[in-house]
Amino acid sequence: MRAAVFDGHDLTIADVDLAGPQPGEVLVEIAAAGVCHSDLHVMRGEWSVPLPLVLGHEGSGVVSGVGEGVTGLALGDHVVLSWVPNCGSCRYCLLGRPAQCQVVAEVVAPNGVLYNGTSRLSLNGEPLHHYLGVSSFAERVVVPQSGAVKVRPDAPLDLIALVGCAIATGVGAVRNTAAQPAGATCAVIGCGGVGLAVVQGARLQAASLIVAVDTVAAKLELASRLGATHTLLVTPDMDVVAALRELVPVGLDFIYDAIGKITTTEQAIGALGLGGAAVIVGLPPTGQRASFEPLALAEADQRILGCNYGSAVPARDIPRLVDELMDGHLDIESLVSARRPLEDAAAALDDLATGHALRQLLIP
Ligand SMILES: [Zn+2]
Ligand SMILES: [Zn+2]
Repeated sequence: MRAAVFDGHDLTIADVDLAGPQPGEVLVEIAAAGVCHSDLHVMRGEWSVPLPLVLGHEGSGVVSGVGEGVTGLALGDHVVLSWVPNCGSCRYCLLGRPAQCQVVAEVVAPNGVLYNGTSRLSLNGEPLHHYLGVSSFAERVVVPQSGAVKVRPDAPLDLIALVGCAIATGVGAVRNTAAQPAGATCAVIGCGGVGLAVVQGARLQAASLIVAVDTVAAKLELASRLGATHTLLVTPDMDVVAALRELVPVGLDFIYDAIGKITTTEQAIGALGLGGAAVIVGLPPTGQRASFEPLALAEADQRILGCNYGSAVPARDIPRLVDELMDGHLDIESLVSARRPLEDAAAALDDLATGHALRQLLIP
């Protein structure tokens, strides 16, 4: 099959071999794969991952093969891929926090393999690694059965690829991580694919005020259409904390950093009101440090919350989010700035890096 292979320098389309599903795994024909900032972090060498690998961790498709012992999935099922193919039996899975699954954190993600420690991907006989147990920049994938979440067949199959990362992360940040109550005020720093999903999550949680913050006016216009009540266009020397305090003098109840630069994280903490929470959704390169004043944080009873994958329970949240799309409560199409062939994977990542592309779908 064709797949986008990253060797540490270049992302190239290659003829890759994909072995069939082993026990507990399924084969999925990819309908679409979304291009996410996490893929860009890998390309820039900002995160350490096992190389070479097939990139991509957001996708959707149709089940075309099932391994021994697979239950709940059959040929022809429509699925959204989850990049936390959780084991269901470790401590964190049993606590109801599958986004922290130990098998994923200790085996699948760091080693670039599936559950039994091996890869189904190879190039000219040499093994290739999986990326986050997904590797969706390809014509098909083999994933653990929990990494393919069955959804209703009437949902647009290419569009729901985004539910697997951007939507689950953004809406989940509001619903799961922050558990933002109705009537709360919030700001969202960064209105790319994930940030615009946060805006929609805040609207679904009946926020009384949603400030969208970005450097690109077009993204703010879109944020307004998707539920933001106020916008803040950031200019190069702007004091973002002061500007947010001008809008909401008492400070905000929740501020989502959907970018994950050190400056944006510090802004999110700095513009909180009493009892407020800063939610770190966007991810920085490994090793960076942000600072805050602990006394001010303690006196104001504020919190800093880390958010991995929207604290999602994939098997619960993904079908619900697809239902919300079909019921008209979630607008996902507006987050798609382009549909491109798989061959455009490298160009799509370049366009994402410019800051103007929202979510791009690669269609194999
Ligand atoms: Zn992602
Ligand atoms: Zn687990």
